[in-house]
Amino acid sequence: MSKENRIKAPRGTSDYLPERADRIHWLDRRAGEIFGGYRYRRIITPTFEDTALFTRSIGESSDIVSKEMYTFEDRGGRSLTLRPEATAPVVRAFIEHNLGSGVLPAKLYYFANMFRYERPQAGRYREFWQLGVEALGSPEPAIDAEVITLAIDYLRAVNIKDIELKIGSMGDEYCRPKYTETLRKWLESKSDALCDDCRQRLTLNPLRVFDCKNPDCGSVLDGAPKIIDNLCADCGEHLNSVGHLLHEVGLDFSVDPKLVRGFDYYTRTTFEIQSANLGAQNALGGGGRYDKLVADYGGKPTPAVGFALGVERLLLAIDHEDEAGVLAETKIDLFIAVIQDDFREEAFKLAIEARRVGLSVEIDYMARSLKSQMKMADKIGAGHVVIMGPDEMARAEVVLRDLETGQEDTVKLIGLIETLKRKGLG
Ligand code: AMP
Repeated sequence: MSKENRIKAPRGTSDYLPERADRIHWLDRRAGEIFGGYRYRRIITPTFEDTALFTRSIGESSDIVSKEMYTFEDRGGRSLTLRPEATAPVVRAFIEHNLGSGVLPAKLYYFANMFRYERPQAGRYREFWQLGVEALGSPEPAIDAEVITLAIDYLRAVNIKDIELKIGSMGDEYCRPKYTETLRKWLESKSDALCDDCRQRLTLNPLRVFDCKNPDCGSVLDGAPKIIDNLCADCGEHLNSVGHLLHEVGLDFSVDPKLVRGFDYYTRTTFEIQSANLGAQNALGGGGRYDKLVADYGGKPTPAVGFALGVERLLLAIDHEDEAGVLAETKIDLFIAVIQDDFREEAFKLAIEARRVGLSVEIDYMARSLKSQMKMADKIGAGHVVIMGPDEMARAEVVLRDLETGQEDTVKLIGLIETLKRKGLG
């Protein structure tokens, strides 16, 4: 096959080579640690779902449903969709497995790949990863505050610093419809100044105009009535309580009157976390309350709140920061080098034995000279090297070199692994 005809990864997707994959795995492990401290447990749902799951929850007029889903028919004629987000699948699983009858709030987290047919650019891909939590069962503002604090604590734990937290409210079934009508009327009076997309949004779902990226629309919308000024008393109080609790735990935030997120299912609290280091795609993630979604899917009415963070955006933000903790974990304890080929079998056996008791060990499989083996040990970040040479092997001994200090010792082959463990390897 010629070079031009080689098959490449599809547009908007990437191979995450080991170094990047290690970083992603580290973010995953940190999520387990931090979220675990708040009693969130992991959930894994299928990569694809019935298409209706998303069209119903996210909303037909949203960009995701109208333009971005990877939808296909399987061989049995069912319409399936690669998940574009995880809240709907988690809610489906919550209902399907009757998690509402367990301890409430049910606290779940996920770390999974998502699929959206978007225009690929820095920070925006067609397959990307999200981590997030969902807390199902409580209407209390305290759980909103917990979820938001958890997101911020996690970002701090993975060394992301320059972050900005914005909170807002989408109102509820009492105040939002009234506000939507007020907004629709106002937008109709300005429709000449809006882009075609916004004129369409105006009829389908006026709130969506706030998603518009067109700067001309942006300046028109600056003057639009704001949901925050049109909340009912209960929604206003809920937002105040969330803000109060965040303040009490020392989180800085601003209230953004235009914070309307791209899913239909949000009610009341919404929030977004931005990074100063990301340029145009500056949203690290966000979330909010979705009190009607469980009931919309036929479950018992269950208020809920959650967030999602974009893993690739976290990596972009961390690249500007200190990540010593991640890289240290890629080190290898031991390299076993041979001076003569007839020691290779011995090296092979010793390596397997040492790995079985928990050391990370590498040997040479490329028929390298001793010099090249030492270079390799250095390249892969080995802490120690065992050298099997003829003189020492004749006495059933090997040389053990500490690559950091350069110190060399002659040690007995019998009990070598115990000696290594005593020296703190593994
Ligand atoms: P959303 O589910 O749209 O609220 O997105 C939550 C977060 O996921 C965003 O703030 C981004 O960090 C990330 N995200 C969303 N879409 C993409 C994408 N196409 N590529 C990379 N990250 C994304």
